[in-house]
Amino acid sequence: METIEFDVIVIGGGIMGSCAAYESAKRGLRTLLLEQFDFLHHRGSSHGESRTIRATYPEEYYAKMVLAAEPLWREAEAEIGYSVFFKNRQLDMGPADNKALQAVVSCCRNTSIPVRVLDPEQVREDFGGRFRLPDGWVGVVTEHGGVIKPTKAVSMFQALAVKHGATLRDHVEVNGLERDSRTGGVSVTAKGGEKFLGKRCVVTVGAWARRLVETVTDGRVVLPIQAVETNVSYWKIRTGHEEEFTAGSGFPSFASYDFPYVYGTPSIEFPGLIKVGWHGGREIEPERRTFAPLEGSLSLLKQWIEGRFGDRVDSSAPVMSQSCLYSMTPDEDYVIDFLGGEFGKDVVIAGGFSGHGFKMGPLVGRILVDLLRSGSSSGPHDLDPFRMDRFKENCKGNGKDFDHQVNVKL
Ligand SMILES: Cc1cc2nc3c(=O)[nH]c(=O)nc-3n(C[C@H](O)[C@H](O)[C@H](O)COP(=O)(O)OP(=O)(O)OC[C@H]3O[C@@H](n4cnc5c(N)ncnc54)[C@H](O)[C@@H]3O)c2cc1C
Repeated sequence: METIEFDVIVIGGGIMGSCAAYESAKRGLRTLLLEQFDFLHHRGSSHGESRTIRATYPEEYYAKMVLAAEPLWREAEAEIGYSVFFKNRQLDMGPADNKALQAVVSCCRNTSIPVRVLDPEQVREDFGGRFRLPDGWVGVVTEHGGVIKPTKAVSMFQALAVKHGATLRDHVEVNGLERDSRTGGVSVTAKGGEKFLGKRCVVTVGAWARRLVETVTDGRVVLPIQAVETNVSYWKIRTGHEEEFTAGSGFPSFASYDFPYVYGTPSIEFPGLIKVGWHGGREIEPERRTFAPLEGSLSLLKQWIEGRFGDRVDSSAPVMSQSCLYSMTPDEDYVIDFLGGEFGKDVVIAGGFSGHGFKMGPLVGRILVDLLRSGSSSGPHDLDPFRMDRFKENCKGNGKDFDHQVNVKL
């Protein structure tokens, strides 16, 4: 039987792999996307009903990436004919002396993102009394917020990849990747014994990255990417107040700094419910998930909801929760780099998206294909913070002047 040789084989069909497959196929490259489970499964990081859009980062390199990603989301939406990216305001809040929040404000100013810093009374007025901030807190308001529909977005990029000629295969668990001495390309092997030949390869396997990369490089590359099981909780808005929490009525996506770091989105996916989550979780192996709620976080969330929303949201218990995986690096920065060694510049890896990568998916897809095509990627993005070698230089990765946002200890 003839073996098809692809120009690009993408391993992992979450948002990053699906965007890379779309970008690759759109450029006319023969593209194969391989996924170990069902497409659109719920065992990784890219499923569910909502992801926050925000350009409010303490690091300028992320703010620039968020801005650069938006036109790419719009291009894909225009091509498919429906929407997955819904913009709204973003409200960040926290103690005025919180270093990360202060860095967010400086970062907005340095990147020309219009930003307003409000005191608690101004926040109350601006949001029609819907948020109550304690004394000494500030609200940071920008127009670059909103919600992306994750499962719908992954499905969109997969459909567009197919439209541009990509081949998509699920239930193919890759467990081998090597140089093919005959073709000079790469040979990808699946657990079932199937082999796929490609000129180049993208590895976007989320929380499975450490294991797969260690295996295929014979231990040469050990990435400190840790799977963390987290939870998204939905809370009941009390009768009569439902409309106040909808995007249509101007309710923003939001994040609350300090401990606990809490985030949420307007009431969109489940009428009458609002998503309020804790940016944290428990370290696990991806195969040993419990899918159970993070009980320890509930009292923190309850307190936060009562403080910010008063009695307009029932804080006694979430009515529903969904389990999800973060793939954390020690500095919460991504890994986007060549695998090197025998693979040289023919294999790129993108992982460790640390609970905040979704909004940049199409840009990451473009960067990965740029890297494979020309060895570099130009644009407003800076890939230096995402080098794998930073962990050799310092096991904690990039130094930061502020606390981490994701918490794995309660
Ligand atoms: C609860 C939660 C809330 C979040 N909120 C936000 C947010 O508000 N804003 C934001 O921007 N980001 C957010 N994120 C982060 C964002 O969702 C992730 O950064 C992003 O989904 C990561 O995508 P990925 O493609 O790297 O990983 P994944 O989606 O996990 O995809 C990796 C894929 O690779 C497959 N795979 C693994 N190993 C193999 C193998 N050996 N062979 C074949 N396939 C394999 C997996 O099955 C999986 O489908 C959130 C994440 C979670 C969990």
